[in-house]
Amino acid sequence: MADPLAWIAEDVANLKQQGLFINLRTIGSAVGPWMIVDGKRVLNMCTNDYLGLANHAALREAAQAATAQWGVGPAAVRSIAGTTELHVQLERRLAQFKGVEDALYVQSGFCANQAVIPPLVGKEDVIFSDRLNHASIIDGCRLSSAKIIPYEHGNAADAERVIQENLPHFRRGLLISDGVFSMDGDIAPLDQLYSVAARYGVMTMVDDAHGEGVLGHGGRGIVDHFGLRGKFDVEVGTLSKAFGVVGGVIAGRKTIVDYVRQKARPFLFSSAVTPADTAACLAAVDLLEQSTDLVDRLWSNARFFKAEMQRLGFDTGRSQTPITPVMLGEAPLAQQFSRALFEQGLFAMAIGFPTVARGQARIRVMISASHSQADLEQALTIFAAVGKQLGVI
Ligand SMILES: *Cc1c(COP(=O)(O)O)cnc(C)c1O
Repeated sequence: MADPLAWIAEDVANLKQQGLFINLRTIGSAVGPWMIVDGKRVLNMCTNDYLGLANHAALREAAQAATAQWGVGPAAVRSIAGTTELHVQLERRLAQFKGVEDALYVQSGFCANQAVIPPLVGKEDVIFSDRLNHASIIDGCRLSSAKIIPYEHGNAADAERVIQENLPHFRRGLLISDGVFSMDGDIAPLDQLYSVAARYGVMTMVDDAHGEGVLGHGGRGIVDHFGLRGKFDVEVGTLSKAFGVVGGVIAGRKTIVDYVRQKARPFLFSSAVTPADTAACLAAVDLLEQSTDLVDRLWSNARFFKAEMQRLGFDTGRSQTPITPVMLGEAPLAQQFSRALFEQGLFAMAIGFPTVARGQARIRVMISASHSQADLEQALTIFAAVGKQLGVI
């Protein structure tokens, strides 16, 4: 008999041949500017720990205290017996922080998109989606069975064109965009998208995973950044990036958030987030409300690093945020560049097709408030050396 799983080996061989096979690096220490990666101590420019909260003492202590009081597991989905006072408190605090009517805390940002999109649209409806939207948005859209119509990346005029052409053929429409695009670090023109959607009566949603804790006053996100508070119907976010913990948030109109509590399958059929995580998120909100220092530090680090990289002759693409792509072109060069950085003690990953378009491979540098000036200068020295060694600058 033929092996019924032989096709997997074939597919994996294909991935390897195309340079698309993922080799996992193993982290041997807490997240921070310096980490043990594959047994080696390196300068970390790879994680989404924008504010250095992933191993912050206040969050660690909150998580420990919550574990002592509440135990480790929820033992229930939110809708049965998994909604603790901690969850309710976090949701209230997140809504206040973001200046929205209500918020729902779910297991992850990925989950938030699966949770919120299907209740809003079904097979008689249409979704207008930025061509570069995140995979979790695309999957949430697919789960809804609504017709998905992409518009050109970051282009409100094109969004208007596809709305005009298609909306009349459907029951209702939903416009969805990433806030900050995670591979290029550019920002969606949310003000223009909002005007277009409002003109046609289309519901609006933004996924602000990389804007939460980064953009807006003290990290209140992209809607705050554009002064559109209370205008967007849904803001999806994550507590897994700048907030340093894990979880997702669906924030916005109370009508929608309450409806999601009734309908969302990840809310109804998958267990609640643990007490430790929920309490750590609460501690993160406390820190962000107390001071804008970490957010300010993140931005001054990002501005310094990006300007110096450009001065060295690197192309940092269209980034407007601390996400700093170093554009290299072909995937094998990006992989070689990343390996050379690692040899010199700097951890930054190469990103290639299909995560980004062919010919646009890059190193993606993630700047954090936790990087010291000396860390950034050391990173620049290493980038300059590798850039010269490989003929990039
Ligand atoms: C990272 C990311 C997510 C996923 O968030 P998790 O909390 O890690 O599941 C969702 N949307 C966007 C745009 C992201 O960048």
